[in-house]
Amino acid sequence: MLDKFEENRYIIDSVLENKWFRLARNECLKSIHNTRFGTVLILKNGKVFTGFNKDKSHPMIKKHYDYFAQSIHAELDVMLKVNPYRHSDDIYGSKMFIYREDKLGWLKPAHPCKSCYRIMQDYGVKKCYHTTKTGYSLTYL
Ligand SMILES: [Zn+2]
Repeated sequence: MLDKFEENRYIIDSVLENKWFRLARNECLKSIHNTRFGTVLILKNGKVFTGFNKDKSHPMIKKHYDYFAQSIHAELDVMLKVNPYRHSDDIYGSKMFIYREDKLGWLKPAHPCKSCYRIMQDYGVKKCYHTTKTGYSLTYL
């Protein structure tokens, strides 16, 4: 019988069969936080952007997040990389992949928080694939 951690590794391996989750995991591992998130944003025009949660301030945080936050969530980090002044790089109609794994290697649920969710909706992200404890799931925004 598999022990819990082996089972977790097995689930991670199956999630990583998806190349976007592989990319999101690479980003996740760059985070120095205990709670590590990595994101991949795929625009309708095919361009791909990546991000992860990090200590950094930004006016968007004060404006949109309910609680006192000092770090940029991975979802916001990746959306801020898209230049909104280039029409061809519009976030509208895009897909986001969010991968979360803690420092000990456990896969964690990565559903966006309320604030990220709202910003993603405003920018027009349409599909959000995020990890769960047992794999991943898809949320339509
Ligand atoms: Zn968030």
